[in-house]
Amino acid sequence: ANSTFAEVQTSIFEIVSGLARETNAINLGQGFPEGLEPPELIEAAVQALQAGPHQYPPMMGLPALRRAVAENARRFFGLDADADNVMVTSGATEALADCFFGLLNPGDEVIVFEPVYDSYAPIIRRAGAVPVPVQLSPPDWRLPFERVAAAITPRTRALVVNTPMNPIGKVFDQDELRFLADLMLRHDLVAICDEVYEHLVFDGARHTSLFALPEVRDRVARIGSAGKSFSVTGWKVGYVMAEAKLLGPIARAHQFVTFTTPPALQAAAAVGLGLPESYFSGLKQALQRRRDLLTDGLNRIGFVARPATATYFAVADVAAFDGADDDLAFCRRMTQEAGVAAIPLSAFYEKRDLRGYVRFCFAKRQDTLTRALDQLDRWR
Ligand code: PMP
Ligand code: GLN
Repeated sequence: ANSTFAEVQTSIFEIVSGLARETNAINLGQGFPEGLEPPELIEAAVQALQAGPHQYPPMMGLPALRRAVAENARRFFGLDADADNVMVTSGATEALADCFFGLLNPGDEVIVFEPVYDSYAPIIRRAGAVPVPVQLSPPDWRLPFERVAAAITPRTRALVVNTPMNPIGKVFDQDELRFLADLMLRHDLVAICDEVYEHLVFDGARHTSLFALPEVRDRVARIGSAGKSFSVTGWKVGYVMAEAKLLGPIARAHQFVTFTTPPALQAAAAVGLGLPESYFSGLKQALQRRRDLLTDGLNRIGFVARPATATYFAVADVAAFDGADDDLAFCRRMTQEAGVAAIPLSAFYEKRDLRGYVRFCFAKRQDTLTRALDQLDRWR
């Protein structure tokens, strides 16, 4: 079970982006936004780069950013944390790895929910632990309470909860979180909560964190990313929030994984987190408009897609198309023939056994989305 990286395949995002580059296709595969970076953030980064310092910042992160993470979480999600509960990482990807290496022992079982983000299972395995997938099913993607409970064994140590959830745009509701909290208490589990899309929630829906539930707060490591909240995915500035007892071992992993994160980008992320509410509501509105444009357009063409409640992603049922059964081949053909790249949903399943769904990223400029829809329409 403890596979080495020699056996791990190249990530689907890299494969699809490579194909999009080769074929000069519009890349609606890998999740990254176009043209939404707040100018205040870029200005702050430029100033911080000019002013320095340029040397290793503190291992736990710049104090200004640690404070800003805690204050933002209090302001928007009512979370009770301060700077001491925050550690800065080089992206959420590093935060996830730090949590898995810091909190898991060989032989531990970790419940993950499919469709599952691709970076979890390989690192869980390298930590010597065992990912135990529980599938959510379309079209509602409700948490299957009975199957989750049945997946728990005496070796279960942790849950990984990605809310809002990539790739399906789901936000876990209060009932689902209460159910998970109850399991955590009953079976003495911790939760690694990947909340990188916390600010990207639409239609007035609310993101809620397990960290907000006082009875499990000390069992939750909550992860965020400036890449997502400020539309700068290449920056790789992330953070983990947890109580001291849980944060300690995570920090010990961090000191040997990256140790620190570029100080100018940390300073800028702190400015971003302090932006007024109008920035965060404006980002939601801009993304919601893009979501509607792409989802409506896809449905007109013959894809079947529901509006996502959150994230950058629209999941489309492609059953009406030829070759839908092999979603990877379908995505390859669509990229080559229609000039539009997307991600096959089976890539988010251990057994790759889900058929006929494709993920499109809608976080793009209107003209990019319009061009992509025109090309898909002509292809169809
Ligand atoms: N978790 C999820 C669910 C993601 O979609 C992503 C990437 N977009 C990450 C983590 C990684 O975030 P970062 O770029 O900050 O490492
Ligand atoms: N999180 C991005 C996505 O889901 C991909 C990041 C990556 O390429 N590893 O599309």
